[in-house]
Amino acid sequence: MLQLFLAISAFSALIVAAISRQHHLAVLTLRQSERSLLELIETVPALLWRLAPDGEPIFFNKHMIDFLGLGVTDCEKPGMNRLAATIQTVVHPDDRAGLGDALNASLKTGERFFQRSRMRRADGVYRWIESRAEPMRDWDGVIIQWYGVSVDIDDEVRAQKALQESERQLQQIIDAVPANIWSWTPAGEMSYVSKRYLDYLGLTDANPEDFERVAQALVHPDDIPEVQRTTATCLQTGEAFVMRYRRREKNGSYRWMEGRCEPLRDRDGTIAQWYGVSLDVDDQVQSREELRVAQDNLARASQAASLAELSASIAHEVAQPLAAVVSSSDACRHWLLAEPPNIERAQKTLERILQSANSAVEVVSRIRALFKHSEETRNLAPLGRVISEARDLMAEDASRRSVYMDVEVASDLPLVAFDRVQIQQVLINLIRNAVDAMDTMMSDKVLKVRVHRMEHAIQVEISDRGRGIEVPDRIFEPFFTTKRQGMGMGLAICRSIVESHGGKIWAQKNEPQGAILVFTLPIEPDSSHEPTG
Ligand code: ADP
Repeated sequence: MLQLFLAISAFSALIVAAISRQHHLAVLTLRQSERSLLELIETVPALLWRLAPDGEPIFFNKHMIDFLGLGVTDCEKPGMNRLAATIQTVVHPDDRAGLGDALNASLKTGERFFQRSRMRRADGVYRWIESRAEPMRDWDGVIIQWYGVSVDIDDEVRAQKALQESERQLQQIIDAVPANIWSWTPAGEMSYVSKRYLDYLGLTDANPEDFERVAQALVHPDDIPEVQRTTATCLQTGEAFVMRYRRREKNGSYRWMEGRCEPLRDRDGTIAQWYGVSLDVDDQVQSREELRVAQDNLARASQAASLAELSASIAHEVAQPLAAVVSSSDACRHWLLAEPPNIERAQKTLERILQSANSAVEVVSRIRALFKHSEETRNLAPLGRVISEARDLMAEDASRRSVYMDVEVASDLPLVAFDRVQIQQVLINLIRNAVDAMDTMMSDKVLKVRVHRMEHAIQVEISDRGRGIEVPDRIFEPFFTTKRQGMGMGLAICRSIVESHGGKIWAQKNEPQGAILVFTLPIEPDSSHEPTG
């Protein structure tokens, strides 16, 4: 019995010892976890704080104390609770009311607290701080504490403000630039329209559908197909574009605009955005046109002046012998009617008449020779070289009038006999007419010169994409012109030159539009080939 009692006691003692060791262990573990929690609270790089249910600050972690330079009990002010005193001490005067109101609302309703405000750091500098707090409730849902965390977001806020400021400045620049600016998505949908452009279109926002409708309605009907084609090509190929078109103003008149658009690509070369600008270039276009007209007038005036000069000198040269013929004839009649007739004197006068008439004939044939070069000035020469010279002479005029010259000369051409100056004159006349014919076109101004060998002749073709020939039967007639300032002599002279070379000249239709002026120069039976290159 005693043995049993002893055994039970020993066992009980063992159990008690074990329980008390376990209790001790549990307390130890709890303390340890409390300590590590405290360590965590003190080391986490955030400002942590705790408030009583009525808002009284009861705990600041070490970071918070270091940041503010104040402990939780350091803000006491007479006649003020500790929360109000703390707010007064640390929050920027402009943000105090906002923070106080938000906090009081949370304390009253138990809803989560969130606020951004400037707080004074220990060194007196105010920094933007973002604060949040959540209530902790007991089993019955009664708030027993508020746990809060504050994060210094000053750098972020400043960066954001700087960004906003630079965006604002950029916007100001965009609005001030005297041009309409827009951007498209890679698929060509409007993504931005500058305010100036919107104001011009009378729109309040950049709704892509409204924009397309309103902007397109202002383009000159003749220019719409070209504008559509250019934009479609640029979206398809990813290439920048520059185009000119006419746009209707509020007063109903049209002005020339220049639209430019370029893609912005990312690192892989994929288009991220299109940026475009359209500028009013009407004054520039008008002054270029005025310059062109002035140059044309000058050229015509000098042509007319030299023609007038030439006519005056011809008249003078022919008038002199003719006057001599008239006066000598008068004298001759006088000697013949005399009683008796003075045959000897009459014969002498007749000789003078003959001399004067001959010198008139000579003047006329000299003038004819001037216009109709004799065969002696014709040499066997490569035609390709004259074509290049004519192209170079016309290049400036063509590019000024936005005409692209495409010249192709076959490499197997034989040498032909021709007067270099005259054939150059033919080429220049035909090229100038082709450029004139495309003057009213907006784009696609292509002038082609093709030279190839036919069986018995070399054939030169000058084609354009202009309106085409309106009166084909009459264009080679002297003085026929449809141009306001034309003389109508160009094609007549071309025909006489080509025909005097044994060639032919004619006009035909170009497809789908425009004209082709063709002339041939006969190949000498034994002529050798042009040197290539
Ligand atoms: P001008 O150029 O002074 O009018 P031309 O004899 O060179 O004199 O031309 C006569 C007319 O022929 C022109 O006014 C024009 O009507 C017509 N013409 C000539 N070339 C072309 C062309 N490439 N396309 C359309 N019409 C043309």
